[in-house]
Amino acid sequence: MLIQGAQVALPGARQLEPRDLRIQDGKITEIAEHLEPLPGEEVLDATGRWIFPGGIDPHVHFDTPGYTHREDFQHASRAAAAGGITTVIDMPCTSVPPVISRANLEAKLEAVADQSVVDFGFHGGVSGKTFEERFPHNLHELREAGVFGIKTYLISGMETFPRVTLFQLERILEVARDLDLVVLLHAEDYDYVSSATAYFRQIGDGPWYFYRSRPETAELLAIQAAVALARRRRAPLHIVHVGTAEAVEIINTAETVTCETAPHYLAFGLEDLQRIGSPLKTTPPVKPSANRWGLWYHLARGNILYVASDHAPAPAEEKNTPSFWQAYSGIPGVQTLFPYLLSEGLLAGRLSLSRFLEAIAEGAARRFGLDHRKGSLEVGKDADLVIVNPEATWTLQVDTSFYSKGKITPFEGMTFRGKIEKTLVRGRVVYDHQQGIVAPSGWGQFLRRTP
Ligand SMILES: [Zn+2]
Repeated sequence: MLIQGAQVALPGARQLEPRDLRIQDGKITEIAEHLEPLPGEEVLDATGRWIFPGGIDPHVHFDTPGYTHREDFQHASRAAAAGGITTVIDMPCTSVPPVISRANLEAKLEAVADQSVVDFGFHGGVSGKTFEERFPHNLHELREAGVFGIKTYLISGMETFPRVTLFQLERILEVARDLDLVVLLHAEDYDYVSSATAYFRQIGDGPWYFYRSRPETAELLAIQAAVALARRRRAPLHIVHVGTAEAVEIINTAETVTCETAPHYLAFGLEDLQRIGSPLKTTPPVKPSANRWGLWYHLARGNILYVASDHAPAPAEEKNTPSFWQAYSGIPGVQTLFPYLLSEGLLAGRLSLSRFLEAIAEGAARRFGLDHRKGSLEVGKDADLVIVNPEATWTLQVDTSFYSKGKITPFEGMTFRGKIEKTLVRGRVVYDHQQGIVAPSGWGQFLRRTP
């Protein structure tokens, strides 16, 4: 296939540049200012369009197998494709059994193998329940099986995946370091949150009380402790979904520690949580609005490596509970991640082109060892790409073309600049804005990290 006439986002460039792209056998084989079609070659006219590398979302909860009443790989991978995400890495904790061993990884792979339209990989994990003598052995086997990182929690709402202590985290960091694996950490302080939750539950119910049970302090304390352990053990640590701007400064003091944030922390503040309610309920919760500008500041400077969705939807009966305390923490995000960053980051002028590319694809590709084949538009890499109409605006309506199983999103009704017209995974169009999903489930390939 030859794509002609587009402005292309090349790695390291200050602005998009006119280029033609040739794709053969799923790879980008030529990039030049002008390419002539070969005999019989399919030509795609992309005049007036922008082309970006497919997004990488290394933090999703697609819930298969186990919690498929909330989400499943088929729905969620279609949401990814429609949202310009061509590679996802699924978390180990929201499938049953959790991915804490090679056997469990194989069970999950069997369940999702023919479900996905985008390429996918897995993170492994260690929980307080599975921290025992065999955990180093399990991590070794998980690495052999190709996981990209090891997820663990300093506080957890999941019975099937309880938290680890600081002592246990230190051991996990040591073992993971020796295996050359990144540890991904949910960092809110257990002691603080337990005590504050008990206190505020007695006084009231609703977004403000929930926020007070998990404020900035809860993230700062946990991140401070975790960064100290990673520094002392010289271990690669990645703090997931950082919602507190001040915490980024602590993270940046340690060479081996990186972090991500999520679109909801950039887009919304506590005032929005009070207005929108449980459709915006996540852990950590969003913080007072000034914090958003701190996160944008750090993202623009590369202090936050990339943005991930933390996609975790739930059905209405789990979101619209009588008590805010009971409502499920998590929102669907994989379909709005790329459009939000494109609209409010690149097109709004908050992110340079190179920072946008790093935040949406390159940063994650590098951190998890995918950059030999994904994350940028270069000859020899997979032809994962997104074709955008930069002039179009559109408004998110969940009753039309929102592919996630969970339809409750705080982004409902938001207007975005820049419309995704096509998403390609390894050279095949998987999403077209007029036809919808046009690739069969199972087109997505399982990706293994090669140690
Ligand atoms: Zn998560």
